[in-house]
Amino acid sequence: MRRTRRSAAIALGAAAAVALVGCASGTPGGGTGEQPFEVATDVQLEGSETFDTMMADGVVRIGVKEDQPNLGYLDSTTNERTGFDVDIARWVAASLGFDEEAIEFQSIPSANREQALVNGDIDFYVGTYSITDGRKEQIDFAGPYFVTGQGLLVAADSDITSEADLVAGVNVCSATGSTPIQNIRDNYPDVETTEFDTYSQCVEGLVNDQVDAVTTDQAILIGYAAQRPDEIQVVGEPFTEERYGIGLPKGDDALRDHINTMLEEGGETWQAIYDNNLGDSGVEGTQPEVDRY
Ligand code: GLU
Repeated sequence: MRRTRRSAAIALGAAAAVALVGCASGTPGGGTGEQPFEVATDVQLEGSETFDTMMADGVVRIGVKEDQPNLGYLDSTTNERTGFDVDIARWVAASLGFDEEAIEFQSIPSANREQALVNGDIDFYVGTYSITDGRKEQIDFAGPYFVTGQGLLVAADSDITSEADLVAGVNVCSATGSTPIQNIRDNYPDVETTEFDTYSQCVEGLVNDQVDAVTTDQAILIGYAAQRPDEIQVVGEPFTEERYGIGLPKGDDALRDHINTMLEEGGETWQAIYDNNLGDSGVEGTQPEVDRY
């Protein structure tokens, strides 16, 4: 398993390095420059199998989202990844001694996150990933590093104004394998659901009148609404609590402790990452207390 992964990684690492050289001019806030943290040197992390693999490969593989503006986003023109989650991921990598060029980002949709970690396809995952007991059966979480809640995105002229309007005849779209789709199924049984792999597909469905609402974390929805302010809007108050964690292979306590300590001791860095990515977005948040479960 590991061996296959390693050779693929070398090839991919080389490709990533080429891609990075290709866009070395960069834009503010992303990539290697202007980050509120430094790349650690001489890092030792005894007892972490995940870290041992990263060191042996010289690569850190991080699962992310790439269609969630302000959180996890890939600009297909510049090839640049931006967002709060992506910068948290870069900060974790830097704390382990890996700079931008040693990171291989992989876009992994909500439904495939646990399996990617269980398979060893990625070393950790940072992408609007709610900490839940069910997921903890397969993987572990460091954090939380952010808290938001489930919200609703509707057309600008919609009659839906809050979750109280989620009744029979309403069709709500969300991502497969996510906590919001599960919440709708469990607690709004009359509502029709449409599922896609990603929330951006749901947003397309909304603007094309195929669904009546998109539901997921309000922090995500605010990013979509900002892209099309004349067409779509976020309505109502958040109606769940979603605590975002950094997904880790199960049982790697050394890595989990390391990241939790980084978060606990890095309040200023956290704030700078928040300000850089979410400060002007309307997504409110303060750093939550780490849960060393
Ligand atoms: N935070 C929720 C979850 O982890 C929704 C966002 C997502 O799917 O990434 O399921």
